[in-house]
Amino acid sequence: MAKLKFVFLRLGDCPERDSAISRRPMYKRITLKVGSNVLTDAEGGPSAERIAQIVDQIAALKARGIDVLFVSSGAIASGRTVIRQPRHRDTVSCRQLWASVGQIRLIQLYADLFARKGIVCSQVLATKEDFRDRRHFLNMRNCLETLLENNIVPIINENDVISVTELMFTDNDELSGLISDMMNVDALVILSNVAGLYNGDPADPSSSVIRTVPPYGASVSQFISSQKSDFGRGGMVTKSAIARKVAQNGIPVHLACGFEPGILTDIIDGKDVVHTYFAPGRRKTPIKRWLAHADSEAKGTLRINEQAVSSLFSEKASSLLPVGVIAVEGTFQRGDVVRIVDREGHLLGLGKAEYDHVTASRHIGAHHVRPVVRYDYLFLYSEQP
Ligand code: GLU
Repeated sequence: MAKLKFVFLRLGDCPERDSAISRRPMYKRITLKVGSNVLTDAEGGPSAERIAQIVDQIAALKARGIDVLFVSSGAIASGRTVIRQPRHRDTVSCRQLWASVGQIRLIQLYADLFARKGIVCSQVLATKEDFRDRRHFLNMRNCLETLLENNIVPIINENDVISVTELMFTDNDELSGLISDMMNVDALVILSNVAGLYNGDPADPSSSVIRTVPPYGASVSQFISSQKSDFGRGGMVTKSAIARKVAQNGIPVHLACGFEPGILTDIIDGKDVVHTYFAPGRRKTPIKRWLAHADSEAKGTLRINEQAVSSLFSEKASSLLPVGVIAVEGTFQRGDVVRIVDREGHLLGLGKAEYDHVTASRHIGAHHVRPVVRYDYLFLYSEQP
């Protein structure tokens, strides 16, 4: 993809916000994630009307030359309306059955609606494993690039039929974050049933939507409602955690209400619509962006001293040297992901180990040996504990 530079206009600061200039698309490639609650009706089945509204907006963006990677939930909700009382009553089997039945219905609906707009869409199903395995990762990225080059809208969902329990993404918000980082998009838009992140209980009329969340600084978790929707898995807690992580990797994130007609196109056009904008930090390299999501993959832990903490968090790009390591935990090989924690065990970041655990332990406190995690393979959470 050609390198594009663009500046996000904070609309409150822009006097000519309705001018043609501010309506010019700011983004050339986006990930759009729409949750089950937006796509389903009161009975829990797919809402043709809402789905059509989303498709219309994607078509409008395509017409302006914007590529959309569309992460759509709704398979399970869709399957539930077909088989209401499965014979297998355990949760895992029910989920598998509903997803298997529902995914094709969902895609059929999308295929028909996109065809009416002269657009071809496709189905891409992913599991968490696909982001762990480098070969799967590259295959998926190649596939998505090919689809976009051919002007196709990929409709991505978790492969719920085989993703169960610990193999599952936390929710499709997590999947959309991974896709955004993988595909180096210009922005991630998450549409759910709330207008954004509130500065209090959303049900309280005195609360309002936080309009901009900076990439670094105060945690926003204290405001977040932990209530989840009926059909989707994700709640505000995971949504905002993913949004912040993606924004800290350098990708702007917009969190908005999918019930508002035209909300997607309005956001992309830079109109001043009520929603939460997670402002991006400095864009990280692909490997650092990948490491940001690799916590569940860590095989071991490096505990480090205060000097190492301040050197890692200083302005200078620093690798983690064995002299700063005070303990090595777990069993890992060279190249495995390891957690980096301070003396008290607060998670500071993740990195690829340059040594296996035996050699790393042997080098604890050693001077003049090569880094245990090199800077290029080191991801640090931006907030120090
Ligand atoms: N993959 C699930 C589905 O299509 C939804 C997961 C989520 O809600 O985030 O029904």
